[in-house]
Amino acid sequence: AASPSPFRLVFSLSWQAKMAKPVQAQRLEGIDKNIWVEFVQLAATYSKVNLGQGFPDFPPPDFLKDAFVRAVSGQSQELHQYTRAFGHPPLVKVLAQFFGKLLGRDLDPMTNVMVTVGAYQALFCCFQAFVEEGDEVIIIEPFFDCYEPMVRMAGGTPVFVPLRLKAPEAGRLMSSADWGLDPAELASKFSERTKAIVLNSPNNPLGKVFGRRELEAVARLCVRHGALCFSDEVYEWLVYDGRQHLRVASLPGMWERTVTIGSSGKTFNVTGWKVGWAVGPDQLLRHLRTVHQNSVYHCATAAQEAVAQGFQRELELYGKPESYFMQLPRELQQKRDCLVQSLTAVGMKPIVPEGTYFLVADISEFKSDVPEDPSSDEPYDSRFAKWMVKNKGLAAIPLSTFFCDAHKSSHSHFLRFCFAKEEGTLKAANDILQAWKREKSSP
Ligand code: PMP
Repeated sequence: AASPSPFRLVFSLSWQAKMAKPVQAQRLEGIDKNIWVEFVQLAATYSKVNLGQGFPDFPPPDFLKDAFVRAVSGQSQELHQYTRAFGHPPLVKVLAQFFGKLLGRDLDPMTNVMVTVGAYQALFCCFQAFVEEGDEVIIIEPFFDCYEPMVRMAGGTPVFVPLRLKAPEAGRLMSSADWGLDPAELASKFSERTKAIVLNSPNNPLGKVFGRRELEAVARLCVRHGALCFSDEVYEWLVYDGRQHLRVASLPGMWERTVTIGSSGKTFNVTGWKVGWAVGPDQLLRHLRTVHQNSVYHCATAAQEAVAQGFQRELELYGKPESYFMQLPRELQQKRDCLVQSLTAVGMKPIVPEGTYFLVADISEFKSDVPEDPSSDEPYDSRFAKWMVKNKGLAAIPLSTFFCDAHKSSHSHFLRFCFAKEEGTLKAANDILQAWKREKSSP
């Protein structure tokens, strides 16, 4: 055979030398795996009932759908084109009025509010805008799992502080309120390296609604250490049993250091529209605008127009029984209670959530169906969830997903179920659980 030309040899050697270096940027190291890809796929393939990923299977309110239809089919051609990069003017105006009322301060729609591609992008903007090499960001565990990779991608180091479970009184169901922050432990995580803390109340996955004392403890530490607070409040309207959602930005000294994040996905049950927002002081939001301007630039105009109309309606009905923000938690509380009953009846011990549309349950009683495997690195709950969707057709998310690697194995006997589902879906889940229970108890 002919020997390769010297040119080809040199080219091939330099190509190989280049390829010896990873092609991807170093900031992606260790964050390439994502359980959602796997669990969403498993649910699509095997589930008969999907209580996994957090989205409702019932429609959004008619007034919101109608507003979208009007936006895309009406006379106004502008709604098909770019709008203002940092938020469609009607939307930022009504968000400023609405959140101004809730926070008890005048908000400037142009500088105190920014519209984002869902709450995800608001979070991403926060980490990109404020966190750099050497900075630490405190994350309360369990946490919405994207916080950790987003901190790392920005070059920061996540520092985890756990919510700790107090044993409930005998005979009472566990509650998300049984999970609390130890003030001394929280204080021990703050240092001169602390850039920010991420707060998520109501919390995904537990459904914990942080109380005033806990928020005040967080606020005092933020003020003392000059730390920022990224407050993810996407489940702000989903609180039950008469509880109140408190906004950390309204506590003394917190407005100037807090970015409050919200989502129409959760507020109006339109997760696919991906309209979210960040609210905060101009000295913080101006940096979010820089990230937004130089990344996505802009969010879909028609969806923003429809969400603006939805908020206009809610502003007019604020505090009245017809308000969607009042109706939705009433409906969801019934769904929560229905799932609590189904799980309790079969021996999965629910942690009754005070908020969100998630419910975490202890699966220890079902361990005989999926024995522990000491040779496997995979957390037990993850193997259990996969077995359950494949063998029972019921999809849920392992709780270990919401812990950092070092702490996954100590919380691996719980699953997270989403109850934002039609009555029929919850009944079908109940049927699966009942049949499973019968199978287990038959000799
Ligand atoms: N924060 C939390 C706590 C969430 O649960 C979610 C969605 N699951 C988001 C943010 C992202 O919201 P969006 O869909 O608006 O991007």
